Parts: sequence; structure tokens; C-alpha cells
Amino acid sequence: MELSQIKGVGPKTIEHLNKLNIYDVDSLVRYYPYRYNIFTPSKIDESAADDVLILPGKIISQVKVSYIKRNFNKVSFSFETDNMLINVSIFNRAFLAHNLKVGKKITIIGKYNKLTNQFVASDILFYELTETKVEPVYHMTSGITCKTIEKCINASLSTNISINEIIPDYIQKKYNFMDTTSAIKEIHNPSCTTSLKQARLKLIYEELFEFMFKINLMKYKNQLFDDFVIKDVNKSDLDKILSKIPFSLTNDQLASLDDILSDFQNLKRMNRLILGDVGSGKTIVSFIAILLNKIAGYQSALLAPTEVLATQHYENFTSLFKDINVGLLVGSLTKKEKDNILLKLRNNEIDLLIGTHAMLEDNVEFSNIGLVVTDEQHRFGVNQRKALQNKGKNVDVLYMSATPIPRTYALTIYGDMDISYIKEKPAGRKDIITKQYKFNEIKNVVSIIEEELKCGHQAYVVAPLIESEENTELNDLKHIEEILKTNLKDIYSIGIMHGKMKQVEKDKVMNNFKEGKLNILLSTTVIEVGVDIKNATVMTIFNAERFGLATLHQLRGRIGRNSLQSKCLLISDKDTSRLSVMEESNDGFYISEKDFELRGSGDLFGIRQSGEMTFKIADIRRDYKILLQCKKDTEEFILNNIENDFRDYKYYQVLLHTMMNNN
Ligand code: ADP
Ligand code: MG
Repeated sequence: MELSQIKGVGPKTIEHLNKLNIYDVDSLVRYYPYRYNIFTPSKIDESAADDVLILPGKIISQVKVSYIKRNFNKVSFSFETDNMLINVSIFNRAFLAHNLKVGKKITIIGKYNKLTNQFVASDILFYELTETKVEPVYHMTSGITCKTIEKCINASLSTNISINEIIPDYIQKKYNFMDTTSAIKEIHNPSCTTSLKQARLKLIYEELFEFMFKINLMKYKNQLFDDFVIKDVNKSDLDKILSKIPFSLTNDQLASLDDILSDFQNLKRMNRLILGDVGSGKTIVSFIAILLNKIAGYQSALLAPTEVLATQHYENFTSLFKDINVGLLVGSLTKKEKDNILLKLRNNEIDLLIGTHAMLEDNVEFSNIGLVVTDEQHRFGVNQRKALQNKGKNVDVLYMSATPIPRTYALTIYGDMDISYIKEKPAGRKDIITKQYKFNEIKNVVSIIEEELKCGHQAYVVAPLIESEENTELNDLKHIEEILKTNLKDIYSIGIMHGKMKQVEKDKVMNNFKEGKLNILLSTTVIEVGVDIKNATVMTIFNAERFGLATLHQLRGRIGRNSLQSKCLLISDKDTSRLSVMEESNDGFYISEKDFELRGSGDLFGIRQSGEMTFKIADIRRDYKILLQCKKDTEEFILNNIENDFRDYKYYQVLLHTMMNNN
């Protein structure tokens, strides 16, 4: 049903709804509240001084509006509640006054002072609240209020709509789920906590079922590539490459290479994720895969999230390996340079193209691409990754991710990929020494930084935010800069970087630091994950309690990148037990397990939520058990129905075909 068919919904509202990605009634009713306001009438005589009270009652006196000064007004009236007469005032709501008349029944929310008999309201409900009421709260966009969204939703729910069941019948029965139409009605207008729980469970399961269905289907399809070719490379090719590398690889690196080699020799498309801690040496593994792919006669592409990273890969690759043609395609090239590269690429004069999203554009045509490597894979959406892969017919795919997540968890969200783990660090690396400091020990911290700088090393300093609001104890960039400048007596150069800067500006600062032109990089968390600056040996993180363990570990991974002893200094006046996990361990997998245990919800191990990972109601971490169940249920569902093309399940038949066509 169209939005315009709902009673009372005009074109202006539709425009706003579209901004929230609501285009039809189905997406409207599936726009779930993210929380609820619960109003329960309070007892005024049992209240303590600081309680927020919710009092139903009646306006007794004329309503008085006083304009105290510009932008400051007060509405006051006397109010009868529970056989008591109290004086109510509410500030800066003069616009409400015309709705407040003697005798009107309303509910006031705010704080009551027994001594003065004064009630200062923070809000007013325009009805008399007689029993507990649950009010859904929706995410909004400017121009539309929560109430309007609620009204639109309720108007469509009252049209007797019936919403299609997505869950197969037998599963619906097996778990005795609430039907979807009731669940959706319940989620917007909860009748009681038990029903609300059941409704949420159903909708969460539904969402995760579809998610896991897609993942498992991709995995299944991936195994069925009949016209895929075997790449003609073997172990002795690999050994020859290894003999040219100036250091010896770790066992985990070698094992990943064996995995890759056997994927190449296999009749199915490679779809492999290299999951390794920061600094574990994933890049060299992908470089070797690229060389093997060239021996087999194919071109490769290496996709990096930023220009700094792409350039770093280009420099590393070309300094390690000479007899292969490499091109760098980034946004900052001139048209002429770009055209030149594209021509060579088409003519097969380039064996490896390294670049950023610029590579995804249609005019980038390979002669015979056979391998796509994506670094920091979570930074790209599925479609972006697919765009490269679709530039050839026999394209193997290799992803790299430095987010070491617990194994069970990886098996689920990366369920469609094969995974090679790199846990071991390259030989000669010293563990980073991590230590907590209180803010009043800042002098010690600065002197540790200074020691490193005196040796010619560089320092990272991380701030929790760009600019702090007043009255917070958080240190912002400016404040930290002052601390550093005063204590270091302006001898050292400090570069500043944060998320509000343009990518080119950030790249510039990062490059200056990389080239040693800056001694200190003071930044929010936007320091590039993959950047490898061996000379940086100390990292200081202010208000460390503000960050998840996984994020802290990721940040810390920028140092400790050679045999020098590196130090990580965590400044925090709070939460020492959680932070001590950082002092205990340098193992990202261990830390991510701990993070998983300790943190209830929040960002997903620091994984940026790319397109495929955003949910309306499910939360992968919180609903992990349901996710695992859905993994099992969808596997079974696919196995039982793929042969007959999901004949009995129209919804999945359609889903399957759209997925196929997008491929
Ligand atoms: P990440 O896994 O975080 O992407 P990199 O691939 O950037 O890590 O590797 C970090 C550094 O370690 C690079 O400078 C790389 O050359 C070096 N390196 C990788 N493997 C080894 C090894 N086996 N021995 C010594 N140094 C290595
Ligand atoms: Mg890397």
C-alpha cells in the first residue's frame, strides 16, 4: 500500500518519511521504536525531594504567562492533584498556554518542593494519566516529530492490514512465535511487558533469519561455480617467491598461504578472509597471493580504504618486488595520469592495480582480472566489494581484516567466507608495555613521551573528542595540545587530526607524520588502522575509559611495529579493572573475548557497521544466541529447499532471484 493512501498523511509528511527511508506502508510499520517512555502516575505524599513525579489532575486557576526577559518566560497555574492544591510553573513554554484552560485535565511531569508547595514541570501531557502508559519513541529527522510518526503508523495499523509472514510455517510453529501482524501492532502499542517481549523476539528472529539466509545462501552459491578455472600454480612457485623475501614468515602466515594456494588450485571461487591482529603481517600474505596470481596469468586488484593506505601498499610492494608491473589509482591523480593507467590496464600492461574506491568506477576495465584483495574489508559495503569482483569472470576474492573477533562470532557474521587466522606476531617484536595513569600523574606521562622524542622517536596522542562541551571532565584536542605545549616547552612539532577534517587534509597530516616532519600526532580515533609507522613508539590515550577494549587495542596497534620497545599510556581516573585487561595482554583475540564479556552493547567490536550489518531491531551482540539459532535454522532450510528452487516459499524464491541477479 502507498503512503498517500493512509488517512491524514499529506505530501509534506511523505517527504519527511522518505528521508527516514520509509517509502510504503510496509516500511512504515516496520519503522520500530528504539525505546519507550513509561509513564506511571506518582504518589505525591510518598515522594522524596529529588524524585521526578508524574501527577494527573486538573487546572484550577487562570493560567498566567510572564515574560521575564528575552527568550525566557514562565507559565504558572494552580493545580489539583490527589485532593491537594499545588502551584505549578513551567519555563519557556509560553506557546502551550493557549491549550491550558481552567478545568482542563492534564498530567504534569517534574519536581515538587514540599516546603514551598511549588512544582516545577519539565513536561505536560495533555490528558489525565490514570494508569501506566507506554509511549514508543522513534528516531526522527528534522521536520517530523515522534508524535507524527506515531500517528502515521497507527493510522496504517488501524486499516486492518495484514503483514506477510516471512518465517517458514514449520519454524513459526516450532517456536510458537507470535504472528507478525500482532507483533508489529504490539511493538508500536505495547499491551504488557510479556507480549512486548514476545513481539520483539519474533521481529528479531525474523530479521536475523533473513540475514543468515542471505549469508548461508552466498556461501552455498559460492561453492557451485561450474565454469570456474583452476589456477596453474604450485608449491614450488610459492617457495620461489618466499626465497626472495628478506624476512622469514611466521607459521600462521605460511599456513594462510597454503590455504590460498589450495583455493587457487581448487575448482571453486576463493572467498577467503584473513583475520589477524594489527601488525600480524597480513599485507605480505596478500602480496604473495598477488604474485601467485600473476604466475597463473592473471591481473590483480588491491583495494584500500584511503589514499594513504593505498600509497603505503604501493610503496611497499614496489620496493619488495621488481619484476611485476604495478599501477596506483587514487582520486588525486590528474586525468591524464588516470587515463594512462586505465589504458595500460586494458592492454594487460599492468599486473597489479592498487587503489581506493576510484577503482570501482565503470571505466576501470581489466584485461583479465583473477584476484581482488580488499584491505580493511569492513570499511567497504558488499556492493563496493562486488563491483570489483564483477570486473572479471574468474575472480578469486581475498579479504583482510584487523578486527580480531571471537571465533564463534566470526563464523556467524563471516559465515559465507573461509577464514585464515594469523595469531602469531612476526619474530623480534616486543610486546607493548601498557600502563594506566591518573590524570594528576600527567607530568610523568609527558616525561615518558619526552624520553621517546629525545631518542628521535615519534608519539601518538589520542583525544576522546574534538571539542568538549562545558562542564565535562573530558579532555579535548585543544586542551591536550595546551598540556603538551606547556610541558614540552614548544620544542616538538604537533600535528592535529580529527574526523571533521576532509580526507585530503587528514591524509596530509598523516603523510607529514609518516615522513617524520611531525614529532607528535595528536588526534581523535581517526588514525588510519593500517598505517605502518615504525618510528612511532609511544601512544597516550586520554580518557581511556571512554573507549571499548577492542578500540583501545586497535589504536595501540599503531605502535610496536618493529623491535623497539613501545609504550602505551592510558590516562583515566575511572574504570581501572576493565583497562587492566589492556595491561595484561597484547593478544587481540583474548581482548575481544573480554570485550564481548564485559560490554553489554555498543559498537560491534569497533567494526564500522557497513550496509549489510545494520539492523532495525536486532543487535548481533545482544541477540547472539538467536543469531546462532538462525544460522542453524537457515542452513537446514536452504538444504531442504534449494533443489526445488524454494517452490513452497515465494518470499525466499524472490529473494534468491534478486540476489542472483545482483551478482
Ligand atoms: P597488518 O597485519 O596490521 O596489516 P602489516 O602487514 O602492515 O600488518 O605488517 C606490519 C609490519 O610487519 C610490516 O612492516 C611488515 O613488513 C612486517 N612484517 C610482516 N611479516 C613479517 C615477518 N614475518 N617478519 C618480520 N616482519 C614482518
Ligand atoms: Mg594492514
